[in-house]
Amino acid sequence: MSDTLPPLPPVGDLSTEQVRGAACVYCGIHLGVGPAIDLGEQPAAVADMAVRWFPRACHGHAAP
Ligand SMILES: [Zn+2]
Repeated sequence: MSDTLPPLPPVGDLSTEQVRGAACVYCGIHLGVGPAIDLGEQPAAVADMAVRWFPRACHGHAAP
Protein backbone atom coordinates (compact mmCIF):
# COMPACT_ATOMS: atom_id res chain seq x y z
CA MET A 1 0.00 0.00 0.00
CA SER A 2 1.27 3.40 -0.94
CA ASP A 3 1.98 5.98 1.72
CA THR A 4 1.56 8.81 -0.76
CA LEU A 5 -2.20 8.97 -0.35
CA PRO A 6 -3.61 12.17 1.10
CA PRO A 7 -5.33 12.04 4.50
CA LEU A 8 -8.85 10.68 4.50
CA PRO A 9 -11.60 13.29 4.53
CA PRO A 10 -13.98 13.33 7.52
CA VAL A 11 -16.68 10.70 7.20
CA GLY A 12 -19.37 13.30 7.79
CA ASP A 13 -18.37 15.11 4.60
CA LEU A 14 -18.77 12.06 2.39
CA SER A 15 -21.64 10.51 0.48
CA THR A 16 -23.09 7.15 1.46
CA GLU A 17 -21.40 5.58 -1.57
CA GLN A 18 -18.04 6.95 -0.51
CA VAL A 19 -18.44 5.60 3.02
CA ARG A 20 -19.43 2.18 1.65
CA GLY A 21 -16.43 2.08 -0.65
CA ALA A 22 -18.61 2.19 -3.75
CA ALA A 23 -17.10 5.52 -4.75
CA CYS A 24 -13.66 7.07 -4.44
CA VAL A 25 -13.30 8.62 -1.01
CA TYR A 26 -11.37 11.58 -2.44
CA CYS A 27 -13.12 12.55 -5.67
CA GLY A 28 -16.40 10.60 -5.56
CA ILE A 29 -15.93 8.76 -8.85
CA HIS A 30 -17.86 5.51 -8.94
CA LEU A 31 -15.75 2.41 -8.36
CA GLY A 32 -18.25 -0.23 -9.43
CA VAL A 33 -15.99 -1.53 -12.18
CA GLY A 34 -12.26 -1.34 -12.66
CA PRO A 35 -9.42 -1.29 -10.19
CA ALA A 36 -9.60 0.50 -6.90
CA ILE A 37 -7.30 0.95 -3.95
CA ASP A 38 -8.58 -0.61 -0.75
CA LEU A 39 -7.66 1.70 2.10
CA GLY A 40 -8.58 -0.83 4.76
CA GLU A 41 -10.88 -0.70 7.72
CA GLN A 42 -10.89 2.73 9.32
CA PRO A 43 -12.26 3.76 12.69
CA ALA A 44 -14.35 6.90 12.86
CA ALA A 45 -16.74 8.70 15.15
CA VAL A 46 -20.12 9.68 13.72
CA ALA A 47 -22.59 11.48 15.96
CA ASP A 48 -20.59 10.36 19.01
CA MET A 49 -20.78 6.75 17.92
CA ALA A 50 -17.72 4.69 17.12
CA VAL A 51 -18.08 3.17 13.68
CA ARG A 52 -15.85 1.45 11.14
CA TRP A 53 -15.84 2.13 7.46
CA PHE A 54 -14.04 0.76 4.45
CA PRO A 55 -12.93 3.55 2.14
CA ARG A 56 -11.59 2.91 -1.35
CA ALA A 57 -9.90 5.25 -3.78
CA CYS A 58 -9.46 5.42 -7.52
CA HIS A 59 -5.94 5.06 -8.89
CA GLY A 60 -5.68 8.75 -9.61
CA HIS A 61 -4.71 9.36 -6.00
CA ALA A 62 -1.97 6.76 -5.72
CA ALA A 63 0.32 8.15 -8.41
CA PRO A 64 3.68 9.29 -7.04
ZN1 LIG B 1 -10.59 9.50 -6.90
